[in-house]
Amino acid sequence: MAKLDKRRINFVKSLPIDVRAQVLYEFLKKGTSNRNIERILNELAEEDGWQAWAVIHFYGFDGDSKAKYPTLTLKRIRDSLLNVNVEELEEFHLAPSEAKPSSNITLTESDGKDVFRTIKARQGQYKLRKVLLHNYESKCAMCNITDPKLLITSHIKTWSKSSAEERVNPSNSILLCRLHDGLFEHGFISLTDDYNVLYSPNFDFEGQGLTKNLTFTLPISDPPLPAFLKAHRVKHGYE
Ligand SMILES: [Zn+2]
Repeated sequence: MAKLDKRRINFVKSLPIDVRAQVLYEFLKKGTSNRNIERILNELAEEDGWQAWAVIHFYGFDGDSKAKYPTLTLKRIRDSLLNVNVEELEEFHLAPSEAKPSSNITLTESDGKDVFRTIKARQGQYKLRKVLLHNYESKCAMCNITDPKLLITSHIKTWSKSSAEERVNPSNSILLCRLHDGLFEHGFISLTDDYNVLYSPNFDFEGQGLTKNLTFTLPISDPPLPAFLKAHRVKHGYE
């Protein structure tokens, strides 16, 4: 998903809510091209489609959403827009990109129940990352890496098996660097309920230049819950 810069964000915010709703309606329901949307709507100037593009991307949609909401009404879009927190969206766009793009969100967009689920899910992840950076004091729980570009929100219970609440529950995630996220995601390391690190016999730690002397640093809040840790151990054959 494209992130908007400050200039484009300000442009979108300068548009009346009705115009933003019409742009989304044309694109999401009717599949009108960005350039044609600019021709149809008097409030937009013709700028090779980028004005329409900015509105669409500001709300978290992209080309994949084109004409994907056949049952959408203009009223529903307008009502939804009134409930979107623009400041949070702006913060989301201006935040540095997630180190690991979350391509694994599955959506059934065509039912149109909540057209803003995509952006809400992304915002939820962004907020979760902020909470984890705070809880783990911006440091990998398994080593001393502190560069935010190398730190990842690592899910404990498998994303696809987690409920919507579990996905954004800070106790179901650990702040890890890219290396330790990789080891944890593949199950090469896991954790006991007492936060002792477990090492998979299926991974050659020494051969990869890694020593088995990791200690888990507890977060100042929302430590991983035993139920989630158990799910990770079971999935990766530790029990
Ligand atoms: Zn680490």
